[in-house]
Amino acid sequence: MEMRVEDFIVNGVWDFQKLKMWVSREEAIQIRRIPISISRCSDKLTWAFSRNGEYTVKSGYIEMKRSFDARMSTAKAGLSLQVPSSLWPSIWKIKALPKVKHFLWRLCTNSLPLKENLFKRRCNLSSLCPICELEPETPEHLLFFCSWARAVWLSSSLSCRFDRSRLKRVDLWLAEVFGGVVGGDESVFALVASICWFIWKGRYFFVFEKKTSDPVLTKDLAEKACDEFLSVRVKPKSCSAPPLARDSATSVWAPPVSGFFKANVDGAFNPKDLRAGLGVIFRDFEGVVLDGCSIPVFASSCLMVEALAVRQAVRMARDLELDNVVIESDCADLVNSIGSDVNRQCNLVADWLAKAAVRRMCPLGWVFSPPSSLASLLALDACGIRSGIG
Ligand SMILES: [Zn+2]
Repeated sequence: MEMRVEDFIVNGVWDFQKLKMWVSREEAIQIRRIPISISRCSDKLTWAFSRNGEYTVKSGYIEMKRSFDARMSTAKAGLSLQVPSSLWPSIWKIKALPKVKHFLWRLCTNSLPLKENLFKRRCNLSSLCPICELEPETPEHLLFFCSWARAVWLSSSLSCRFDRSRLKRVDLWLAEVFGGVVGGDESVFALVASICWFIWKGRYFFVFEKKTSDPVLTKDLAEKACDEFLSVRVKPKSCSAPPLARDSATSVWAPPVSGFFKANVDGAFNPKDLRAGLGVIFRDFEGVVLDGCSIPVFASSCLMVEALAVRQAVRMARDLELDNVVIESDCADLVNSIGSDVNRQCNLVADWLAKAAVRRMCPLGWVFSPPSSLASLLALDACGIRSGIG
């Protein structure tokens, strides 16, 4: 039976189930990372590993060597199913008390005296979670899936919900959150660590005091402890500080001229596991947020995610029926042929959204009720307007 590429595309997206019937799952995953044109232009063959799409022997050699090296390192990693090596340095860098870091380390190595571990060592008659008594108490259940812990995360300023199909191991999740994405927001890392720690304390309190901690109170304690630690250890990024102690006027987000709208876009890409996300935020000339998005996407390079972010902004501008839109990206490679790029400092909000998409941690309703870490970036941009910079 002869098949065409178009047979695998339904409503503008890859039909993943159908792909898997014809090629291996790995190949289907790779195909799914290929963005589909939304402009219905005709197909042409291009070489994916050079900027201009033309094949050269040099680019072929470099790509072959890269894929060989990647296969070798994957094979080595597979031999010992260990906690990701990148996790340790990331944990030690978190702005948190040593006892919290030590707890995270024990959590990731599954060396806490959780019921399941005690049961396996015949030290306990049951492996069930002492709080809900519904599931074995594993590190993942303790932190993410016990209804009590879920309530703590959901009520926090991160508003996290966890998906069992995606979150299989706590160490992999923490590696992604703390170190997977280049850069990152240290206040979010510190808060994640603090919430983990206070969930553990809450569980401890229940086991030894037979009292259930209130989830909202627990998240309050976690946020307060985190804020206090950061206020001592991290230089305050106060909005009320005299006109933004930044390098120059060019490193501040500038609103568009009156009558125009500005879309800041950014992409985040983790080359280790190829997870990608994009962020877009639309603001008017007064800095008021109109709309935006934080979306996980399939992609195979950083440049591709950045381009998808611009395409998403164009799409949204069309849907919002905005005519006068300036699109701003900090990806120099992408915008060289289009216009001038902006300093990363001007693109912090879009950057936050893109990274949140990769971590699957962007709360619903952030446009109207942004979490504190995002709100502070928005406020910082707004300060630039008020102080007349940009
Ligand atoms: Zn439970």
